[in-house]
Amino acid sequence: MITALAGGVGAARFLQGLVKIVPEEEITVIVNTGDDIDLYGLHISPDLDIVMYTLAGIVDEEKGWGIRDDTFHCLDMLGRYGHETWFNIGDKDFATHIYRTHLLRNGLSLSEATKTLCQKLGLKVKILPMTDDKFETTIVTPDAAMHFQEYLVKRQAKDKVVNVLFEGGKEAKPAPEVVDSILNAKAVIICPSNPIVSIGAILFLNDIKKAIKETEARVAAVSPIVGGSPVKGPADKLMQGLGLDVSACAVASLYLDFLDVFIIDQADRTQKKQIENLGLHVVVTDTVMKSLEDKIRLAKVTLESVGVR
Ligand code: GDP
Repeated sequence: MITALAGGVGAARFLQGLVKIVPEEEITVIVNTGDDIDLYGLHISPDLDIVMYTLAGIVDEEKGWGIRDDTFHCLDMLGRYGHETWFNIGDKDFATHIYRTHLLRNGLSLSEATKTLCQKLGLKVKILPMTDDKFETTIVTPDAAMHFQEYLVKRQAKDKVVNVLFEGGKEAKPAPEVVDSILNAKAVIICPSNPIVSIGAILFLNDIKKAIKETEARVAAVSPIVGGSPVKGPADKLMQGLGLDVSACAVASLYLDFLDVFIIDQADRTQKKQIENLGLHVVVTDTVMKSLEDKIRLAKVTLESVGVR
């Protein structure tokens, strides 16, 4: 089994390549739920949905989230009622949140609800939320503390970040199968995802971090920072806010406790020695995934780097 840790868009792109070279049944993906939010009376799990929609082939590829060719009539009507509409949800996307919330209200856990949604979408990859418990990523700015989605979507990541908190993170337990999927893996892959709010949130769960340190599988990560910036998203602002450099090397140092191999982009090849000096094996390759060929090639390089062919 190959086990991957994932946030949203960057991870989903990487996984599109991985499923072309590894049978889907042999892949487990542990997904960040710190970005989950209750809105419109519904439970929304943005990263789980991005991964699900992408692997099911229904994602809006241009945006990287939401469902292709979706319409927005429901959101328009909510706006007409004077409800806030800053979190864009299309009509088909609403159906996912309605069904998930229905399942949760019927007593299913988030992992059980996710399993049901995945089955209905025909997915064979095992997608696990990192936890079934409450875990909320909060961004602290000079003036306020707010939910990550409010910072990212409502306020367009415009505020200066002074801290990132994981509410409930100390008490939350990994969802069933998460720890075993790491301990029993042939290889563990940290996808190119936000190192603070996606991978950082997953690793905040002590039992997950412990399992990654203990597993006999080799652990590889793909840098989400390319040429000193994120490919998309606010990773730079979050890293700066926490006093980190925005560099591949700074990401490597966050994963140092458990990482064997770090995969960086050609654009960052001058950092190879510096990262090797941290004690990691470094692979330099093209990591920006535009075409399906790019995704497959990066997945192959990553697997080879941990000795899986
Ligand atoms: P988000 O919630 O959309 O920010 O989702 P993620 O946790 O997946 O974080 C996005 C991260 O993925 C950003 O730091 C991006 O730089 C990274 N990313 C997105 N696309 C690519 C890509 O093609 N190559 C690499 N190396 N990183 C990527």
